[in-house]
Amino acid sequence: MAYNLAEKLKKLEPYEPLSGQFRIRLDANESFLTPSPELMADIQSAIAKVAFNRYPDPLAREVVELYAEFHGMSLDNLTAGNGSDELISVICTSFLKRGDKVISLTPDFSMYKFYCHLTENPVIEINKSLDMEIDVEQLIETANKNNVAAIFFSNPCNPTSLGLKASQVCEIISNVKALVILDEAYMDFWDQSLLNETDMYDNLIILRTCSKAFGMASIRLGFAAANATLTKALTTAKSPYNVNSVTQAIGAAVLRRKDELKKAIDAIVFSRNQLYKGLKEIEKENGGSIKVFDTCTNFVFAKFSDAKSANLELIKNGISVRLLGNYLRITCGSEYENSELLSVLRTFFEKEEKK
Ligand SMILES: *Cc1c(COP(=O)(O)O)cnc(C)c1O
Repeated sequence: MAYNLAEKLKKLEPYEPLSGQFRIRLDANESFLTPSPELMADIQSAIAKVAFNRYPDPLAREVVELYAEFHGMSLDNLTAGNGSDELISVICTSFLKRGDKVISLTPDFSMYKFYCHLTENPVIEINKSLDMEIDVEQLIETANKNNVAAIFFSNPCNPTSLGLKASQVCEIISNVKALVILDEAYMDFWDQSLLNETDMYDNLIILRTCSKAFGMASIRLGFAAANATLTKALTTAKSPYNVNSVTQAIGAAVLRRKDELKKAIDAIVFSRNQLYKGLKEIEKENGGSIKVFDTCTNFVFAKFSDAKSANLELIKNGISVRLLGNYLRITCGSEYENSELLSVLRTFFEKEEKK
């Protein structure tokens, strides 16, 4: 007798981050900053105090308290997760019934569709316009007409780097019956968060992460913010020891260094502006071959007449970015990394011109 793998598993496409060795990595929207020596010392002494033979605190109280304090919010509105990715999975498995329809926008973060596929929830995809804007009216109408159970989207958006104003997001939440999962993974770089307004809505879950602005992708720590009822449901439904003790200890050490976090965000925004400016200059010099989108994240999104070749040229020079169809998504890096990337692209366009 042969064991038959479930159809949904046979059809599942793995999430495959770029592999290989690169001199400069600008492909995963990570922070280019590493912890200061002072923070490193805090981290080491925090790890030394971990009770390795004991299970972790199921509610990860210390990091939850520190995160709440960082954003001036209440503890009753926060759940910690093993990355915000885990929280997407918990939301799909516990807030949705099999068969419930959900909405996802295209392009957007791919993990919403990934987990909905696993929980057997059909996804209605709404395509964004050519300028990558979200049509709020169309989104509301589609949600209500199809009686969808949930709407997932990132704001600001990965990969488009564009953002919806808080007022527009509120319009969506107020006008649908669906649960809105608002992924604010990049909101540390922008000022349109709804983190302090979760009590006003009974259908809103906001996701945040320590993987991007806080430079802690390795420890896997994310948060869900929602009203007390939704938060209680989420903490009950998640697996009890989802955030391990080492992550809790390191996360707390990081979150205690508020000044360092704020400085890091400023440095990343500075780098992002530098990268954006450089790409805009290239756009000006090469009218038609590259179109650079505005950005309120730590990366820049650009359309290329030949994105594949541009990407190959970057890879040849040891630089990784994310290729998405006709677009490249480029994470900002150190000053050196940005200038290397820009110089490879300039050379690429010079060669193209001579062809
Ligand atoms: C990077 C990213 C995440 C992943 O966050 P983790 O906390 O590392 O799981 C979630 N959402 C979006 C839109 C992202 O770009």
